[in-house]
Amino acid sequence: MARNITLTIIKPFAVQNGYTGGILGKINEAGFRIVAMKYLQMTPKQAGQFYAVHKAMPFYDSLVSFMSSGPVVAAILEKENAVEEYRKLIGSTDPSKAEKGTIRQLFGKSIQQNAVHGSDSDENAEREAAFFFSEIERY
Ligand code: ATP
Ligand code: MG
Repeated sequence: MARNITLTIIKPFAVQNGYTGGILGKINEAGFRIVAMKYLQMTPKQAGQFYAVHKAMPFYDSLVSFMSSGPVVAAILEKENAVEEYRKLIGSTDPSKAEKGTIRQLFGKSIQQNAVHGSDSDENAEREAAFFFSEIERY
């Protein structure tokens, strides 16, 4: 299996609560290589663009407002089978249902404030990586 990438975002409440170091520690321990990383606050328009696939969902407006409420850490992570491996490491969308020891179980507070985002396919990983990072920001 070729090494490929996934895109993660450490969400605003996790950054505000000082979980960035703990989350990056879990990512390192699990063997992901950091290809790119930045600390930024999305505008509501940018958050809306990022989550455009969820536009029809009842939680869309609240998700966009939450994701633009404070700074986040966005990163491209590389590993063999990165998308699937990272979703295993973060656990279920709802932290109360996430498996023990997963990032969402350890650092998530609610289905919306679930600590981190992880891409759901190789195609979306590439699209999301290009949303945050230009070619010369990837190493
Ligand atoms: P992500 O895409 O952030 O990695 P996911 O793939 O596990 O999460 P999605 O279904 O893609 O879950 O939903 C995207 C995000 O929307 C979730 O991470 C969560 O923050 C929010 N969300 C999903 N379902 C709900 C819900 N029922 N109520 C509120 N927020 C939700
Ligand atoms: Mg998703």
